[in-house]
Amino acid sequence: MSDSAYEAIIGLEVHTHLMTRSKLFCGCSAGFGAGPNENVCPVCMGMPGVLPVLNRHAVELAIRAGLAAHCEIAPESIFARKSYFYPDLPKGYQISQYELPLCKGGYIELPAHSEGAEPRRIRLTRIHMEEDAGKNIHESDASLVDFNRSGVPLVEIVSEPDIRSADEAGAYLRELRSILRYIEATDGKMEEGGLRCDVNVSVRKRGASEFGVKTEIKNLNSFRFVEKAIEHEVARQIEILESGGRVAQETHLWDPVREVTRPMRSKEFANDYRYFPEPDLPPLRVSPDMVEAIKASMPELPADQRARFVRDLGLTAYEAAVLTQDRDLAAYFETMLATGLKNHRTAANWVMTEVLRAVNETARPLADAAPLAIESGQLLKLVETGAISLNAAKTAFAAMCKSGKGAGATVAELGLAQVSDEGAIAAACDKVIAAEAAKVAEYRGGRDKLFGFFVGQVMKAMGGKGNPKVVNEILKRKLNA
Ligand SMILES: [Zn+2]
Repeated sequence: MSDSAYEAIIGLEVHTHLMTRSKLFCGCSAGFGAGPNENVCPVCMGMPGVLPVLNRHAVELAIRAGLAAHCEIAPESIFARKSYFYPDLPKGYQISQYELPLCKGGYIELPAHSEGAEPRRIRLTRIHMEEDAGKNIHESDASLVDFNRSGVPLVEIVSEPDIRSADEAGAYLRELRSILRYIEATDGKMEEGGLRCDVNVSVRKRGASEFGVKTEIKNLNSFRFVEKAIEHEVARQIEILESGGRVAQETHLWDPVREVTRPMRSKEFANDYRYFPEPDLPPLRVSPDMVEAIKASMPELPADQRARFVRDLGLTAYEAAVLTQDRDLAAYFETMLATGLKNHRTAANWVMTEVLRAVNETARPLADAAPLAIESGQLLKLVETGAISLNAAKTAFAAMCKSGKGAGATVAELGLAQVSDEGAIAAACDKVIAAEAAKVAEYRGGRDKLFGFFVGQVMKAMGGKGNPKVVNEILKRKLNA
């Protein structure tokens, strides 16, 4: 924050699609990517006389989200009609949960990035279920509506105002997305609208107990936009207060091109949603047995996996945090270890540098961008046995990313195996010592620093393939003889 006399008070409302095959109240496909208005029926088009039928799998996924976030699962919750008028909402109301949500309380624990630091907990207010609206597409000569998204199941995850900075908001969102992906509730693809966020921001003098007036920034669809919008909004509010003004309670939109927030016209949002219980749906009852069965099916969560990586594998808190940002990345690391690698931290750093670089450079999913985890594991095993150097492994890896070939075949093909044969190394050492008589004399006269020069010359003579450990040993013995 620009002015340390103030602190920011931030709460997030995150909407995320649940990964169901069908929509929340009808049998239409909830998949992304169909042609306009292909996945529609009278229910999700809001025709008169139709009745909604609740999707059981969506309820199960919402309960998984609640359990993963340490929420209390309500034995009875109520769907309500949230009325507003917009062309992408053919019924004139959205079915949501209001007074009695499915999940209450809970928290998200942010990973500690340094040793011994207390993990931060961001408390949750609630997680409730609702249906998504359709999508308006504005073109130069027409406004079009696509109802494919209409009725796709969502959960809304509402945090308490516990977040204190843009960075912390980013950390919260990354951890939340990671958890939702671990439990397979969502794929978290923001570019497909699968994860969207509204932000509430206020500032107050540090040490004050009362909250300042908050503004809401709606519909942010990337983590970067969330962080930038918060930074901008915090600075804007501090400037208003510092110049003696008052922050107006408004709803803002983020302009990603100009990187500013601007207030929405009052017509663009309505305050009175006239909530009332949905008469076409009975209360949602969840039995303790159902909750127990879902609990039993839960996978290991990122926070538990982080703790295990630190405790059992000797990774640092930071390494564990990076690896568990993504379920696929953590699984890749664990598969590498399963080949029998002894040095866990080398494997962790391999994933964090070589593997992540391949993903970032190609902008493709891990499975497409990098070789099979088992081949990466085999490659590092060749390093552990001294068959190749770490640098040679990096060269092989880059080739494997393109060719898809295995570790052994690639190392052979590129001739990367290093020479550990003592005879060959001794011969190279003798050659260098004979050619550099003057420097040898200097070294023997006490200039220890020259040792590195001799190592370099021997490695050069061996085309970079000498085993450095053996080269060091033999060279030292010969020079000191
Ligand atoms: Zn439908």
